[in-house]
Amino acid sequence: MNSPMDDAKIFSCEFFPPQTEAGMEKLLIVRNELDENMHPAFYSVTFGAGGTNRDRTLDAVDRLREDNASVAPHISCIGSTRDQLKELIERYIDRGVNRLVTLRGDIPEGGPGANDFNHANELVAFIREQTGDHFHIEVAAYPEYHPESATPESDFQYFKRKIESGADSAITQYFYNIDAYLRFIENCQKANLDVPVVPGIMPITNYKGLVRFSDNCGAEIPRWIRKQLEAYEDDIDSLIDFGTDVVTSLCSRLLESGAPGLHFYTLNQSQVTLEIWRRLNS
Ligand code: FAD
Repeated sequence: MNSPMDDAKIFSCEFFPPQTEAGMEKLLIVRNELDENMHPAFYSVTFGAGGTNRDRTLDAVDRLREDNASVAPHISCIGSTRDQLKELIERYIDRGVNRLVTLRGDIPEGGPGANDFNHANELVAFIREQTGDHFHIEVAAYPEYHPESATPESDFQYFKRKIESGADSAITQYFYNIDAYLRFIENCQKANLDVPVVPGIMPITNYKGLVRFSDNCGAEIPRWIRKQLEAYEDDIDSLIDFGTDVVTSLCSRLLESGAPGLHFYTLNQSQVTLEIWRRLNS
């Protein structure tokens, strides 16, 4: 039997584009620390909601790639026209980028603005039509369902449509219920969707921020985790220790269950991700 950490698994890390040069310098240090200890297959860089900060994503991609790191920009269709997206995709091709995380994007307060594509499947189809097989296209998957989805069934059918439009693999929204992921994988198998679906992993480093974010994106924090985090709210060392334990155990069980890799939402920090990595390898 292959080891749960075998070489075929894809481990990747996500960053957001820093707002300042100081933040960028710090992020380059974080990337170096991850490179040295974990050797991620690629780093992904998020895209501002509603097409905002398009250039900031591009700038961060350029800086992160300076030392030959493999970088996958996120690109979302909300708030961008077809021409703006075409130009952005061409800029990535010029730079030698060959992997994109392709999304609809969160709808900003005040509405979606000018956009020619309403859903991620349309953007996937557009990228394929314009660039053939140049890009490895990742899309988002939601084992606990997207918060706007009409029904679980329709959410899955729309996920299927993204794959059928030309996506190569998927990264999930983070979750702490492994059964939700395993069920999602079963549904993919039943629907003959033969693409890797890599679990998105959110390390736990604070209580209130995690609760707020999870409420917004529809990720459930199980009661036994939430209650313990609440109790540790003023004891950050115990909170991080407990959170790291919980997330390491989740990662370990996911890999043993056949997950094709892990995608870490690093929040531009290396420490906790590397501690999970160390524990997984010990
Ligand atoms: P879609 O796949 O378009 O789905 C959105 C909703 O519409 C779902 O409820 C779905 O059921 C429904 N739907 C899908 N297709 C159709 C259709 N054809 N007709 C009708 N309904 C449909 N957000 C950012 O702003 N920037 C980022 O960089 C970013 N990175 C992310 C990375 C990952 C790995 C994940 C999981 C999420 C990320 N997000 C990001 C958040 C994401 O943009 C939001 O969850 C967004 O609300 C949905 O994007 P999507 O690509 O999943 O959209």
